[in-house]
Amino acid sequence: MHQITGKTRLLGVIGDPVEHSRSPAMHNAAIATLGLDYLYLPFPVKADQLAEAVAGFEAIDLVGFNVTIPHKQAIMSFLAEISPLARTIGAVNTVWRTADKNWQGTNTDVVGFISPLQSLQRDWQQVRPTILGYGGAARAVAVGCAQLGCPEIAVIGRNEEKLTRFVASWQQSDLAGRVKAYSWDKLAELVSQSDLLVNTTPIGMWPHIDASPIEKTMQLKPTAIAYDLIYTPSPTRFLQQAQNQGAIALDGAEMLVQQGAAALQIWLDREVPVDVMRQAMLPG
Ligand code: NAP
Repeated sequence: MHQITGKTRLLGVIGDPVEHSRSPAMHNAAIATLGLDYLYLPFPVKADQLAEAVAGFEAIDLVGFNVTIPHKQAIMSFLAEISPLARTIGAVNTVWRTADKNWQGTNTDVVGFISPLQSLQRDWQQVRPTILGYGGAARAVAVGCAQLGCPEIAVIGRNEEKLTRFVASWQQSDLAGRVKAYSWDKLAELVSQSDLLVNTTPIGMWPHIDASPIEKTMQLKPTAIAYDLIYTPSPTRFLQQAQNQGAIALDGAEMLVQQGAAALQIWLDREVPVDVMRQAMLPG
């Protein structure tokens, strides 16, 4: 068993809530496999306590940490360096300290999101994706679709003002002119035309497992990929509907594993055992 001593180096995740995060199990399993003297802990940090948390991490010389809701945007003002990718997304999920003790941040959600898609044979230049929702995860998904090569990205949401803001937010980036907004009443049409449908809304997440963002009558393309960022339950009702129509279904588990693996690789500066992390994040 791993002996925790004064020399044990610390990693962690900050968020609120963070009590049910699977990241500690995933990271500590990988650390144990590598035989390293590190420990990854969940740190519940309220929205108004971020400054104190970062100061505390400096005092105890924490190596790095993941960032989840509600700190993904707010953390940016504490960082000396932010990767261009994280700037484009407007959110940071991975932070570490450089040799000169400055905090640096990036976003590994894009790597996580595209990883399961890259193993599918597709000419991404021909793929028309639709993103359901325009929140934090949708931003990483939009950048991921652009990185894959999708020329145009449809986003559908229920609030016109937020939709307009989402589209406008890409004006200074590579995605300018490529993100098109649609109101929720266009859902059936988009579902029938899209090659990749990504649910970034929480509709269907446990405990609301009977809910789906799409209606029973909506028809997907038979060659479509349905991707739900939710991983509890798996499959969600949305993915069950898609599978019943012959579409390929992907849940959010692999995204979670791959974003975590990318973060751990940054902190440890070495290859990490992704299989061990995948196994450790499975429930029970
Ligand atoms: P968020 O910023 O709160 O965004 C949620 C989005 O869903 C918003 O656009 C919201 O629109 C929309 N929405 C919520 N309820 C809706 C409804 N009934 N009808 C239509 N739209 C609705 O959350 P997030 O951080 O992007 O996370 C979104 C989901 O992705 C969560 O389920 C999260 O667990 C999952 N996620 C998974 C991973 C992974 O690694 N697998 C990573 C990140 C996130 P309004 O603003 O109008 O409410």
